[in-house]
Amino acid sequence: MKGTFPVEAFEKLQTPFYYYDTALLRATLDTIRREAGRYEGFEVHYAIKANANPKVLNIICQAGLGADCVSGGEIQACIEAGFPASKIVYAGVGKSDWEINLGLDKDIFCFNVESTAELEVINELAAAKGKVAKVCFRINPDVGAHTHAKITTGLAENKFGISMRDMESTIETAAAMKNVRFTGLHFHIGSQILNMDDFAALCNRINDLQTQLEKHKIKVENINVGGGLGIDYQHPNRVPIPDFKSYFATYARHLKLRPGQKLHFELGRAVVGQMGSLITRTLYIKQGTAKQFLIVDAGMTDLIRPALYQAYHKIENISSDEAPATYDVVGPICESSDVFAKAVDLNAAKRGDLIALRSAGAYGEIMASCYNCRKLPKGYITEDL
Ligand SMILES: *Cc1c(COP(=O)(O)O)cnc(C)c1O
Repeated sequence: MKGTFPVEAFEKLQTPFYYYDTALLRATLDTIRREAGRYEGFEVHYAIKANANPKVLNIICQAGLGADCVSGGEIQACIEAGFPASKIVYAGVGKSDWEINLGLDKDIFCFNVESTAELEVINELAAAKGKVAKVCFRINPDVGAHTHAKITTGLAENKFGISMRDMESTIETAAAMKNVRFTGLHFHIGSQILNMDDFAALCNRINDLQTQLEKHKIKVENINVGGGLGIDYQHPNRVPIPDFKSYFATYARHLKLRPGQKLHFELGRAVVGQMGSLITRTLYIKQGTAKQFLIVDAGMTDLIRPALYQAYHKIENISSDEAPATYDVVGPICESSDVFAKAVDLNAAKRGDLIALRSAGAYGEIMASCYNCRKLPKGYITEDL
C-alpha cells in the first residue's frame, strides 16, 4: 500500500522539501490527549528537538501540550510559537549561562539539572536576579532500552544525568541552597522504544527510588519520565499513530504515583514522526554492473538518519504505478554514506518522478545541514499547498 499525497501540488514546488500532513498530526494529538486524559495528573510535553518547524509547533501548542527544551534556542522557539513558559521544561548536560538566564527571565516551569556543577551555577545566576529556580534532577536509572546504541541514554556509563548513588546527596545540596527549589525527578532512557517492558522497568526503578526518598522525608512533587516511544517505520500507512493507549496504560499500571504528584512525559518522535515525509525528485537512473542506482536530489544533508543511525525509512515512488524494480536510492552528496536505502523495490522510476521518504517528521528537517553549500530544505504543511 502506498501513502496518499497531493502529488499535483507537489509538482509546483522546488524539491527536496518536507511535507507535513496536518490531518495526521491533529489526529495524533487528539489520541494523545484522549489517552493521557484517562489518568489523573498526567501532563504531556512535546520534545521540540524532534521538529521545530514553526507551523508544526503552533499546532502542537494549540493542542495544549507543554514543551521540553534542550537549548536556549529551543526555549526561544517555543515562546515564539506560543507555549506558555509555565509549561516549559529545560534539560541538557551543558547549559551555558545565557541559556540559564533566559530560562530564569522567562520563569520556565523547571530546569532538569544533570550535575552538581550545573546546580551551583543555576543557584548563582538565580541569586543575581533575586529569583528561585525550580529544579528537577535528571537521574540515570541504569535501565537499558532495546534500541540503537547511539540513542540509549539511560545506561550507567553515559554523559547524561546524575547517578542513583548521588541522588540523595544532590537533593540535600540543593536543599541548602537559597535560590533553587527541588521539585522532582527526571528520567529519559532513550528513543525509538517499542517494547513496553522497558518503560515498565523504568517505573519499577522509580518506585524503588521514591521509597528510598520517603524514608528520608524528601518530598517529590513531579516525576518526569522523558520520552522515547517509538513509531512503526516499516508500516507508516498501517500504523500512522503510535500505541499511546498501551504507553500511558503502562505508566498508570506500573508507576506508583503519590497523592498530588504529577507525572510528566516528553514525547518527540511519537508526536511528529509519522506525519512527515521528505519529498525528493529522481535525477537519474544509473545502471551499475550488478545493480541500478536511483539518484535523487535529496541527500544526507536533508535527512541524516540513514547515514547516522543506519535508520530505515520506507521509500515510495509516488509518481509511478509501474511494476516494481530494485534500486539503491542515493543522494548527490560527496560522501559514500549518502545512501538512503540499498536494494529496495519501488515502482519503476524515470527521471522526474517524485519519491517520498516516509516517517521523516522527527529528527529530519531539524537535523538538516548546509554541507556542500546546499540550501536547507523547506517544510510545508497541508494548508500551504
Ligand atoms: C530527545 C529527548 C526526548 C524525546 O525523545 P523521543 O524519543 O523523540 O520521544 C525527551 N526528553 C529528553 C530529555 C530528550 O533529550
